[in-house]
Amino acid sequence: MLKGKVAIVTGSTSGIGLGIAKELGKLGAGLVLNGFGEAGAIEALRSGIEREHGVRVVYDGADMAQGEAVRGLVAGTIEKFGRLDILVNNAGIQFTAPVEEFPIARWDAILKINLSAAFHGIAAAVPQMRKQRWGRIINIASAHGLVGSTHKAGYVAAKHGLVGLTKVVGLETAGSGVTCNAVCPGWVRTPLVERQIADLAAEKRISQEEAANGLLAEKQPSLEFVALEQLGGAVAFLCSDAAEQITGTAISIDGGWTAQ
Ligand code: NAD
Repeated sequence: MLKGKVAIVTGSTSGIGLGIAKELGKLGAGLVLNGFGEAGAIEALRSGIEREHGVRVVYDGADMAQGEAVRGLVAGTIEKFGRLDILVNNAGIQFTAPVEEFPIARWDAILKINLSAAFHGIAAAVPQMRKQRWGRIINIASAHGLVGSTHKAGYVAAKHGLVGLTKVVGLETAGSGVTCNAVCPGWVRTPLVERQIADLAAEKRISQEEAANGLLAEKQPSLEFVALEQLGGAVAFLCSDAAEQITGTAISIDGGWTAQ
């Protein structure tokens, strides 16, 4: 389905980004992986996807907290592959504290990585996508892009901003062959959430499993985590012809979280 297309997935050395990159590779897209991690482990991921799916996969370690580096990631991809078809803005971090105690440095980092990086990436990618008359921009927001929770001032503000950015870019590119949408997952059991489970378990002196069930019970009516493959499938759908008229919207994949 995506043979000949080229995708960047930011923050794809772990969790949701890695799941999406694997799905796009399975469908035949050339890939640019991005994110932090140990060099040997990243090379194993890169060569593993390349081997398994017979697609070209390169790694670029650009820091999504640096606007110029994000723009460089896009420019470098176009230089290496001669095109860019899919941009998945996925890299993200979390930090929790009451607003009056929220460290300024954490607020700044969350806004840069979870929101500004998408702005820089999109600004750099849109001219190429317009030229190709085809492009798919997919912003991995969150249920927290649509509703709030306590102690997540930075994250909720950034994710709401990302949903707003999605609408503007959807409008600006409408009719050009380029679409821009947000995907809003509920709880997905990745390293980002494992840290929150561990914090809750320590705070309440309960087991990891009790803490995991507690998170689900509080927010996610299905009482099940969203699977990585399910998010990969949603991104693949947004890249399909059937999704050509879906733009500027936010798609919830959250087990009912935001229906409440
Ligand atoms: P994760 O911690 O498993 O992965 C985050 C990825 O981003 C990693 O590859 C990491 O190296 C990369 N990254 C972090 N800072 C970076 C930087 N400065 N530059 C480049 N890469 C950087 O987290 P995840 O749960 O897979 O989260 C991925 C996205 O999904 C995030 O935007 C997150 O907010 C969003 N999300 C996650 C959940 C969930 O329940 N896990 C729910 C909703 C939304």
